[in-house]
Amino acid sequence: MDEKFEEILEAIWAAGENNNFSVEAISKRCAVDFNDADLSELEKEGMIVKNADKVLFSSKGKEVAQSIMRRHRLAEVLVTSILKVKSSEMEKIACQVEHCLQPEVEESICILLGHPEICPDGKPIPKGKCCDHDVKVVNNMVVSLKELAPGEKGKITYIKPGSHSNLHQLISFGLNPGVVVTVHRKNPAFCIKFENTELAIDEEIVKNIFVWRLVN
Ligand SMILES: [Zn+2]
Ligand SMILES: [Zn+2]
Ligand SMILES: [Zn+2]
Repeated sequence: MDEKFEEILEAIWAAGENNNFSVEAISKRCAVDFNDADLSELEKEGMIVKNADKVLFSSKGKEVAQSIMRRHRLAEVLVTSILKVKSSEMEKIACQVEHCLQPEVEESICILLGHPEICPDGKPIPKGKCCDHDVKVVNNMVVSLKELAPGEKGKITYIKPGSHSNLHQLISFGLNPGVVVTVHRKNPAFCIKFENTELAIDEEIVKNIFVWRLVN
């Protein structure tokens, strides 16, 4: 979803926490400007229902907003407690971070932070699956692709430029950050699959490709 719409849903959620469902209360809390056309768009997508001046979530919209709010408030805890960002800047940075937290990263951050229940300004953080099970071990750490066993999947986070020509070669194959690769086999050659491509890669290069380990 567009970042702007994510921000609007976030503002609707925050206003609703104070039992205020008016457009005015929502725009006061929203990090971006929006107009009636944006609200109509959200209504068309089945996220909200407009009723006179009130804006209410549909059940789908509520679910989406809850997950955005969770990412936003986890990002707040992250930037204040780990990155030690000043509280005056927290809100802005948290808003940027929330949009790029992918689900597997979100869970790892929640575990690393000890499943925080409230954000730095005292608002509740919606729980995730990891919180209900009180997971203590982060599975989805960044590892070298070399660490994955045959059949395991990883999402590329970065590629260390080992040698210049190698890096160009990988990119020309479409191995960019964000791409999900599956280890096909490791013997006699390291072989991966991604997006309908099967590729044998030199061990030296495999070592320099880092991925989020994805749990199937
Ligand atoms: Zn935000
Ligand atoms: Zn907060
Ligand atoms: Zn958690």
